[in-house]
Amino acid sequence: MKLRYNYRLYPDAPQRELLARTFGCVRAVWNDALARRKTAWKADRTQISGTELQKICITAAKRTAEREWLGQVSPVPLQQSLRDLDVAYKNFFDSVSGRRKGPKMGLPVFKSRHDHRQSARFNTNAFKVRPGGALYLAKIGEIEVRWSRELPVPPSSVTVVKDAAGRYFASFVVELDDDAHQLPQADGEAGIDLGLTHYAVTSDGVKIANPRWLRRRERKLKKLQRALSRKKKGSANRAKARIKLAGQHAKVADARRDFLHQTSTTLLRENQTVVVEGLAVLGLARGMLAKSVNDASWGAFLRLLEGKAVRYGREYVTIDRWYSSSQLCPCCGWKIGKLALDVREWDCQSCGEHHDRDIAAALNILAEGIRLRSLHDVAAGLADTRNDCEGQVRPGEAIPTLAPPETCAARAA
Ligand SMILES: [Zn+2]
Repeated sequence: MKLRYNYRLYPDAPQRELLARTFGCVRAVWNDALARRKTAWKADRTQISGTELQKICITAAKRTAEREWLGQVSPVPLQQSLRDLDVAYKNFFDSVSGRRKGPKMGLPVFKSRHDHRQSARFNTNAFKVRPGGALYLAKIGEIEVRWSRELPVPPSSVTVVKDAAGRYFASFVVELDDDAHQLPQADGEAGIDLGLTHYAVTSDGVKIANPRWLRRRERKLKKLQRALSRKKKGSANRAKARIKLAGQHAKVADARRDFLHQTSTTLLRENQTVVVEGLAVLGLARGMLAKSVNDASWGAFLRLLEGKAVRYGREYVTIDRWYSSSQLCPCCGWKIGKLALDVREWDCQSCGEHHDRDIAAALNILAEGIRLRSLHDVAAGLADTRNDCEGQVRPGEAIPTLAPPETCAARAA
């Protein structure tokens, strides 16, 4: 499977200048090629091939007065930019024709110098990881890297990114064996109840606090937002205020990502099976709580959990959206009915057991997950196939993208 490994980069002033120039050239080639394709399509519904675009927008363009500066940067990221455009178009056409599943993809769009995220991709011809620890990029030189962890194998490409907060990152793509990350078998099985009071409560009774990243920095963010809106458009002070605000947002995003990664890894390390409610259930908490729900990033958490489950050799089970996990007694199955939100504990009127609301819900989720799995196993035995059972028990996909998407294609869409 392909994975991304991200590291912070610290280019010096001349290198930042060269990177800015590279981002600019990548953008120019993308925009020129996109304009060509649009014109050709409008004129007579033809598509220009990648090789032809490369000839026109890179090779020939370098010899013209207005695009002469393309020769000052490595040609590799320019070619990669054309490849990204190709992919963006392919995704669009596949999406229109129904060959591509998932949300509809739009046409690629022009890039602007004012975009807050700039990037350039280098393949193995144009970068090297130096034994001393620096990252060498063609025509830019050796850039200092903070190696927060080791690269498991030599990477096949690197995307250099400058984010809205003005930070630089190297995002390496590495190809690993599917079982490279398998963990030793664990004994535990856990139902997980996601919520706002606690981020997660497990059927073992573990309660993980909700960090409320956004809420915690809300006042500061509001202050910075106000400062930004008071600055004159196009002024240097506005640019400074924007970077400050983006820096705060980046802190929120970083803290959230760290938490989601740590929590998902811990849960999977300790449990062979994790059972969660599908997202549709969680979506019910929208409306007034929308801000908190978005801040909690349950979708991102479940995707991480699912992706890592595959990587670690764990079982990830989602349960039915109509399953009323919070209304049953986990001991005897007695149905208590809808509980008011502020009722945190209750007594079963049938068996007399005293329950913590969230732990009871997590226990019910686990029980339902195990029931579905046994159904699934029976179905699998009968049909000798693994994707039966109404899609309730799904094998995960490998999605551990820690980075912003590699290709501009994804962004354009
Ligand atoms: Zn009971």
